[in-house]
Amino acid sequence: MDRKKAVAAVVAAGALAGAGFTQAMATVTPVDRIIPVAATKDLAAVMTGQPQQDITTIHSLDTTAETRKLLQAEQIQVQYHVREALRTAQDGFTKREEAAKAEQARIKAEEDAKRPKCVRPAQGTFTSGFGARWGTSHMGVDIANAIGTPIVAAMDGTVIEAGPASGFGLWVRIQHEDGTITVYGHMNTIDVPQGAKVKAGQQIATIGNRGQSTGPHLHFEVWIGGSQKINPVGWLADRGVSL
Ligand SMILES: [Zn+2]
Repeated sequence: MDRKKAVAAVVAAGALAGAGFTQAMATVTPVDRIIPVAATKDLAAVMTGQPQQDITTIHSLDTTAETRKLLQAEQIQVQYHVREALRTAQDGFTKREEAAKAEQARIKAEEDAKRPKCVRPAQGTFTSGFGARWGTSHMGVDIANAIGTPIVAAMDGTVIEAGPASGFGLWVRIQHEDGTITVYGHMNTIDVPQGAKVKAGQQIATIGNRGQSTGPHLHFEVWIGGSQKINPVGWLADRGVSL
């Protein structure tokens, strides 16, 4: 080989080597662009190329503080469980209480259904019937018994009047669901106020001898539709009650 040829060969080899290096550099991130994350304060800023902000986080290495935090967390857990347990217990209690109330209501409804709808207004001797008597009209029936004998509501209803009345001395008038009014007279005491809701058989007064009366007795009247006075014997019989 002559000298000219040798130089050409060296130049060619150098050109090849140079080209290979440039190619390699193009596929690798230039060293001056790699920024160690550990040295940055704002990773997001690095990633997005935004200006960095000072958001340095300092982690506490105070073990007492860490223990305290743990204990607090544990305490919160315990409190939560205690609250849950109390709530569950309260729920159980409330449910039992509700069940007991429902049972009581059921028993009451059952007893109410068995309860007589109509009762004899007083115990005693039937002494006088409905109709003409001593040249006048006797608009009710009389049941004689000792002073103080209980007088009861014949049916469920509302006390619409309770107090003095001409001829009756004292009277009680009870209006029933269908509009019928029952009247009780001559009583010694009145035991319910006007406006009271009463049940069939509930004591409302006691037998007396007040007003135009010839001995202790209950005078009892039935006013159909609130005004038409009818024979109480038939009205009571229709409801299964005999005098
Ligand atoms: Zn009478």
